[in-house]
Amino acid sequence: MLNIILFGPPGAGKGTQSKKLIGKYGLIHLSTGDVFRYNIKNETKLGVLAKSFIDQGELVPDEVTNNMVKDFLERNANENGFIFDGYPRTIAQGESLKTVLGEMGTSVTMMLALEVEEDELVKRLLERGKTSGRVDDQNEDTIRNRFRVYQKETSPLATFYSEQSKYMGVHGMGTVDSIFDRLCDAIEAKLS
Ligand code: AMP
Repeated sequence: MLNIILFGPPGAGKGTQSKKLIGKYGLIHLSTGDVFRYNIKNETKLGVLAKSFIDQGELVPDEVTNNMVKDFLERNANENGFIFDGYPRTIAQGESLKTVLGEMGTSVTMMLALEVEEDELVKRLLERGKTSGRVDDQNEDTIRNRFRVYQKETSPLATFYSEQSKYMGVHGMGTVDSIFDRLCDAIEAKLS
């Protein structure tokens, strides 16, 4: 299996690039944010729980998120691999992912980290908020809180995967296609 974590702060372009990567490499896209939003829209129990965290720019608790991901992975165990978009976001999630993939006889192949300056991120998120209907993209305070949470909870994962020689930084500014080309080059380099 080819299992790629697409990493980066909110607004880095993970969703956009994931959609292109799954087409090229025949992978399954797992965006935990999309799964939560689907559940919120359908007013499921999970959606009601997740909404209170998401609207504040806080993380949904690890246990809830990990169980959801485990369930998703087990249902898709016969696929070529996954693009993880927005997961893991904490070290505890990274550990859980390792365990679940290990039980499936596979592991994380690499973490591709999109590197984008913060001013550009805020600009992109506010722009997206005008059309996406996402409450968490429309308020600059919520956006700044998401960056704080990212710095504190999520950024340590870069070290976690560096220590396993799986981390690769990719310049995330420029056109969508030029960034995609850089991501593909990084994947090819890892696979060769
Ligand atoms: P995203 O679509 O990845 O920007 O995620 C939107 C929001 O969903 C985040 O700000 C969190 O509140 C929640 N969320 C998404 N993925 C996770 C995760 N792996 N762990 C905890 N919360 C998450």
